[in-house]
Amino acid sequence: MLALAGFPLGLRFVFLDPEQEACAAPLGEHILGRFDDHEQLSRFAERAHVVTYEFENVPDESIKLLAKCAPAFPNTASLVSARDRLKEKRLFQQLDIPTPPFAVVNSRADLDQSVASIGFPAILKTRTLGYDGKGQAIVRSPEDLDFAWARLGGAPLILEKFLQFQREVSVLGVRGRTGKMAFYPLTENVHHKGILRASRSCPGDQLETQAQGYVQLLLDHLGYVGVLALEFFQNGDTLLANEMAPRVHNSGHWTIEGAETSQFENHLRAILGLPLGGTAAVGHSAMINIIGELPELAQVLAIPGAHIHLYEKTPRPGRKLGHVTVQGSNEQEFEAGVERLLRVVCWRDMTEDTS
Ligand code: AMP
Repeated sequence: MLALAGFPLGLRFVFLDPEQEACAAPLGEHILGRFDDHEQLSRFAERAHVVTYEFENVPDESIKLLAKCAPAFPNTASLVSARDRLKEKRLFQQLDIPTPPFAVVNSRADLDQSVASIGFPAILKTRTLGYDGKGQAIVRSPEDLDFAWARLGGAPLILEKFLQFQREVSVLGVRGRTGKMAFYPLTENVHHKGILRASRSCPGDQLETQAQGYVQLLLDHLGYVGVLALEFFQNGDTLLANEMAPRVHNSGHWTIEGAETSQFENHLRAILGLPLGGTAAVGHSAMINIIGELPELAQVLAIPGAHIHLYEKTPRPGRKLGHVTVQGSNEQEFEAGVERLLRVVCWRDMTEDTS
């Protein structure tokens, strides 16, 4: 999606991806290599004028190597904080961004102690490499502790209070090379089993200014360049930061059709030192992820205001295969489109739950 946004700006792309079937490969030159393969990294960097990542777990050594050949954004400090839940939460605390109560868990004894202070229910999470609900276990009673420890113990962990939040929301901010910033409207998100299912833009939401203020603190503190997403739980009038993503983010996919400038184009503008584009919403937008199996293309396209984006990935349970955005200026027609789309896009793991 970055490449698709870049072509109209006259940009061309080289991708480093360890997958033979990399979905970006048809859009540019594909260099097949792991993110720690120094030979392929060098080949890649020699071809680049500017480097960016859409994955925070690129090793620091590799970023250093890349940065010798071309400017690389976002900077290492941003990736280091984002890839470790403990460092990330400590950064939030340092900037006075509220978080759910949490504790460090490095041993079974730590787990007992943390539960005693945080209480049930709680959620045990690996500090690194967790995404889409992977590396997490909910503990609701003392009986769950052994099972959760057997599953996750051994890796560095944190225990968080499991919140009964009202909503999950996120905000995307973008900061250019000169330090100029812009913020997208607040987005409301629905997750299930740790996976983002759907997002809706909520421009002018009463919590938007609060959320954008927190993103601004992060962008400034990190000297960040590019798009960054910050996800929150809403508890009354309070936002508690869950995690940040130092990259374009799934909860901002609606911006392709639903904002003056998409998150992808603005990320490219930022890392290239170009002026940022407007971030205001254009009408109403909602985005629904296609997960596990593909819908009937004709059924999706029959919905007024629907735009489909397929990622050319082989279907497999739980895998994000694409997304659909419904966009429109007429609220009634837009809501009807969302309703219709929800009937066409099937998340089998959700329906199995309720059957
Ligand atoms: P994460 O990987 O931390 O973003 O978690 C994935 C999803 O799990 C979140 O979007 C929430 O839906 C749920 N979740 C994570 N942490 C908590 C928590 N402390 N309380 C309630 N739900 C949570």
